[in-house]
Amino acid sequence: MALIVQKYGGTSVGTVERIKAVAQRVVMTAQEGNSVVVVVSAMSGETDKLINLAHQITAAPGEREMDMLLSSGERVTSALTAMAVEAAGHKAISLTGRQAGIITDTVHTKARIEKIHGDRITKAVQDGYVVVIAGFQGVTEGGSDVTTLGRGGSDLSAVAIAAAIKADLCEIYTDVDGVYTTDPNIVPEARKLRKISYEEMLELASLGAKVLQTRSVEFAMKYNVPVVVRSSFNNNPGTLVAEEDTDMENVVVSGIAYDKNQAKVTVVDVPDKPGVAAQLFNAIASANIIIDMIVQNISSDGKFADISFTVPKTDSKKALEVAGAMAKELGAKRVDLREDISKVSVVGVGMRTHSGVAARMFQTLADHSINIFMISTSEIKVSCIIDLKFTELAVRVLHDTFGLAH
Ligand code: ADP
Ligand code: ASP
Ligand code: MG
Repeated sequence: MALIVQKYGGTSVGTVERIKAVAQRVVMTAQEGNSVVVVVSAMSGETDKLINLAHQITAAPGEREMDMLLSSGERVTSALTAMAVEAAGHKAISLTGRQAGIITDTVHTKARIEKIHGDRITKAVQDGYVVVIAGFQGVTEGGSDVTTLGRGGSDLSAVAIAAAIKADLCEIYTDVDGVYTTDPNIVPEARKLRKISYEEMLELASLGAKVLQTRSVEFAMKYNVPVVVRSSFNNNPGTLVAEEDTDMENVVVSGIAYDKNQAKVTVVDVPDKPGVAAQLFNAIASANIIIDMIVQNISSDGKFADISFTVPKTDSKKALEVAGAMAKELGAKRVDLREDISKVSVVGVGMRTHSGVAARMFQTLADHSINIFMISTSEIKVSCIIDLKFTELAVRVLHDTFGLAH
């Protein structure tokens, strides 16, 4: 008998029929002798719908109120799923993030989980209930405010709960059969990976492969939670995300990721003197904006620098404002914003021991006349910022170049 956390994403609970199908799977898992804790997302499209409603009220809705609003989507599916499990013949109880004891920091709309008081979950499981928890949400210490965990945050709820209650396995049910060499909805030839290391999955996720939320992978890696990604639409074996083993190292490139949620901010003609970058990026950090790439070019006379950086598109207006104010203070000429960009990345732990991946990537993009605006590399990835309209093409040709098709 095992203790299993099963997370069902938006499409998996997108209709009443889908919720009933989820309940069947949950009850079957329980009848096989396992204890099951379920984490659910909002019905597909629901979170976007709520965001849209807020923006019809005001251009800049307050983040606390956004959390009150957005957390409602998961509350609906948790109650409906608990009802469906009961109807399918098993005791069930739904819990909100607060009731499940999920404590976060106070950063609304992208809160971090600080701790989980899992006793209520554990007690309900011991009493024979299937516990259905609303994903994506928590409360601040003392329970005074509801928070949400950032887009895709139900994955994090599931992994964190699995760690807290010491589950044997965390299953992430979604609308694809597992983790592929790239998004199978863009490249039909993409191959499903039987196994992927935490580290590679972390790179893929943080570079845009939304099949798992980045922080959920970080959490799984830190607490060594075995995660299986699989489909709620069939019984195919999924992908195991676990510690690296030797056969993983033999593959140079294991996947291609893309991220369309990118914007590039350029501060033009900043006087080139010590402390300028520190001031600029301190201001950005104080606004809770997460920076991805940074590039600085010094003019040939060494007097001025252009500093470019990328941020999530959702933070681009805020970044523009902060950088604009800073530019004035620093005596820079102006600030430019470009939102029609994306990032494509090639990932693989084998890059540690194989050279030439970056050159092959650049050559492939060049062969298709795709211009590169920014480049960043690490031990196990190469990323390029390109024009948004070339994203799909770039992903397809890179997938081909690195021989990832089945
Ligand atoms: P859920 O609503 O279940 O959380 P998401 O939409 O967040 O599902 O994530 C699943 C989607 O992730 C897939 O439909 C697919 O388009 C996308 N995706 C991107 N990269 C990959 C990849 N490498 N492998 C599998 N899916 C991927
Ligand atoms: N409903 C939230 C979102 O759409 C959280 C999730 O689905 O994981 O981002
Ligand atoms: Mg998701």
